[in-house]
Amino acid sequence: DAAKPAVSLKETTIPDKFCRFDQHPGYIQMQIINRGAEQLGVESPFFRVHEGLAGATTIIAGHELINFASYNYLNLSGHPEVNQAATQAMQRYGTSVSASRIVSGERPIHRELEHALARTYGVDDAVVFVSGHATNVSTLGYLFGAKDLIIHDEYIHNSSIVGAQLSGARRLSFPHNDLDALEHLLKERRHQFERVVIIVEGLYSMDGDFPDLKRLVQLKQQHRVFLMVDEAHSFGVLGNSGKGLRELADVDATDVDIWMGTLSKTLSGCGGFIAGESALVENLRHLSPGFLYSVGIPAPIAAAAIKSLEIMAREPDRVRRLRSISEYFITQAKALKLNTGDSRGIAIIPVILGSSVNAARISSALFDRGINVQPILYPAVPEKSARLRFFLSCEHTQEQIDTTLNTLASLL
Ligand code: PMP
Repeated sequence: DAAKPAVSLKETTIPDKFCRFDQHPGYIQMQIINRGAEQLGVESPFFRVHEGLAGATTIIAGHELINFASYNYLNLSGHPEVNQAATQAMQRYGTSVSASRIVSGERPIHRELEHALARTYGVDDAVVFVSGHATNVSTLGYLFGAKDLIIHDEYIHNSSIVGAQLSGARRLSFPHNDLDALEHLLKERRHQFERVVIIVEGLYSMDGDFPDLKRLVQLKQQHRVFLMVDEAHSFGVLGNSGKGLRELADVDATDVDIWMGTLSKTLSGCGGFIAGESALVENLRHLSPGFLYSVGIPAPIAAAAIKSLEIMAREPDRVRRLRSISEYFITQAKALKLNTGDSRGIAIIPVILGSSVNAARISSALFDRGINVQPILYPAVPEKSARLRFFLSCEHTQEQIDTTLNTLASLL
């Protein structure tokens, strides 16, 4: 009888868990963690609402707190000139460019920003995507394929891992900052693949340390592979004028094949960019799906980033102040015998507390005492290295740091 379904619903053996979102493994895991936190009486540190600008201080639930949880490193987000540039761009172009750039979303301000980024890096060109995360996903997903190899530091950001997975390339990681291990991998595996890319970060966002770029450049030249540096956290932070790991390590811009960065940290907006040689940038601009099939960045955001670059170049003192206040923080923290791990003491300094419960508890106690710092819990880091992660800004004062560290030490 053709009208009858082949299998009646009653007969199906498909379990409920495959048909219900409340039985999704991620959702179940989240509920277990939330219940655990509730039983321990720890308030959730997530989705706290900031009521105004988040810089060295912030307002949460009507209270002003010292803030170490925002990556407004040079205090440019909220800068009056940045706001004014964004407002003017909004008045002229509106809040959306209403199309992908390739099909009528292009505005003069897009290329202006890309040229400014390319000039800052000293490379041919740059291309800006609507999200930093999407920049890595789309760039890696598009450039590499099944016959290629992606080798990355084990602490690389999720966006690069997702991009590597999307590419279908073989993916291998090496222990954090262990370039001997990387060299060994290259010697053993390079010849088995067509294109190979090494991915590292300019400043690791959980640990505040960075790789030996000079040696990476030697390795990449020796083994004929590409080198990609994600400068999400190092751009605006490292080097005397904030030009990133290249400036600090003193290598040529063209020694790195793919410079990646975000607009969401120092550059006071959101979005990401790739800077490098024309052949790379043109290829991504015409063919990478995250650029091609996505809207162009809003003009006010482009204007904010251009103005931020301008202020950064005009006022190198911001970078110097960020460095000196960071040095103060790490020196004082070490004097109090706090464990700052391998942090190099510039802009990102963790205090490792050894368990997720401990980190969540201490973050909560600091919050109650007027200090906002995010705990980083398992699985974002291994359980034994759960931590508080301090983001510094050039506006933090020694007094704020003394208050914070003394309060923290009194809680341990
Ligand atoms: N790369 C790194 C190293 C990051 O830390 C982040 C996010 N903080 C991204 C990429 C993604 O950038 P965005 O938040 O601008 O999307």
